[in-house]
Amino acid sequence: MKNKKTILKDGYSVLQNELILDIIDNNKKLTDDEKAILKTIKMTIRNQRRGHAGYRYVLECGPTDCNTIDWNGMTYVERHYITIPKWTIDNPEGASGMSRNDYDESLLPRYFEYYVLHELAHVLQKFEDTKDRGHSEIFYKHFTRICPEELQHFELGYKPRNATSAGVAGKRS
Ligand SMILES: [Zn+2]
Repeated sequence: MKNKKTILKDGYSVLQNELILDIIDNNKKLTDDEKAILKTIKMTIRNQRRGHAGYRYVLECGPTDCNTIDWNGMTYVERHYITIPKWTIDNPEGASGMSRNDYDESLLPRYFEYYVLHELAHVLQKFEDTKDRGHSEIFYKHFTRICPEELQHFELGYKPRNATSAGVAGKRS
């Protein structure tokens, strides 16, 4: 499960994991424009406890639709990334906050997909409003749109209060 190096059209090189690229390609709710831009971000799977979505300003010429800042006469481009913890594939039942009664065991093999879509929803949140952060209304608007309904209940184990108030549905019975 290697993170491979991809050279983007603008010459910038990013590490990208094929399993994550597949999730983007196969998602039915992301628009073609969203898929195209999400496929330019760095996306890796790592042996760490928590996943993350974020961005760095990099001194580089880049896509013109990216946010830039000027500093000391140079232009810095916003480069987004997500990291997904490896345990979401190897040991999804170990997710903190999940209790056996709350999730559909037959869907555990897709826990990784849920987790990737959670982090991608943070990226879409930032694209919509760079100042918005955390598990906000804008975040949940994207998450509930792009995450297949049958997987959304995994969110209740992760962010029970935010997810419930955003109307994320529980396990299908
Ligand atoms: Zn989050």
